[in-house]
Amino acid sequence: MSKKIDKEVLFGMTKEHLIYDESINRYFHKDSFEDFKRFKEDALKEGIDFYVTSSFRSFDDQLRIWNEKCAGKRPIYDRTGNELDHTKLSPSEIVSAIINWSALPGTSRHHWGTELDVVDGNSWPEGYHIQLVPEEFSEGGPFFEFSKWLNTKIEDKCSYSYYRPYVEDLGGVAPEAWHISYNKVSSEYHQEYTYDLFCELLEHPKMNELTYLKEVKASSQEIYHHFFRLLK
Ligand SMILES: [Zn+2]
Repeated sequence: MSKKIDKEVLFGMTKEHLIYDESINRYFHKDSFEDFKRFKEDALKEGIDFYVTSSFRSFDDQLRIWNEKCAGKRPIYDRTGNELDHTKLSPSEIVSAIINWSALPGTSRHHWGTELDVVDGNSWPEGYHIQLVPEEFSEGGPFFEFSKWLNTKIEDKCSYSYYRPYVEDLGGVAPEAWHISYNKVSSEYHQEYTYDLFCELLEHPKMNELTYLKEVKASSQEIYHHFFRLLK
């Protein structure tokens, strides 16, 4: 089990661990793909149409999201999902706000190919623009029933090996009811991702393109322990 996992895999800087599903234009971790297909087929039999809004995201994808949020080109939210005015925030406040909802490039579980953001295509209202915010998965939201259904399926981790790492508010990352993780692989990756490795990431040449790197480095302990390590 304890074969060394390539850093580039954990940082999202390679696609060597992935398989491409052309039919939905998404990448998956090679070892998760068969179980995912089985999960999807079984869901369909129960009237659920898994729609994967996001699977693998590369370091560069995450970097672009991060930098656009810092520049005010994308909205940023507080922990409860209220939009914030980024012009009224200091760089370190912006970093804190972004990190509630988006991972720092190189630390996203989406780099691993094991993570999926899913909704039910069959309960997607016509013309509705999905935001992936908690209200959509709460009572009265379009995906509330789907969320309850998903609960019943992932309670038993053995059947598909998917679980929700973010569903409860652990005081780090805001709860993400739409996010599921392929536990068989992701638990190993998570274990491998030590604080030392995180520090290596911060010194990686690619990180020089990150807006507010200085602020990130200044709170590296907090970012790692508070926002990353809690995510079992
Ligand atoms: Zn996600």
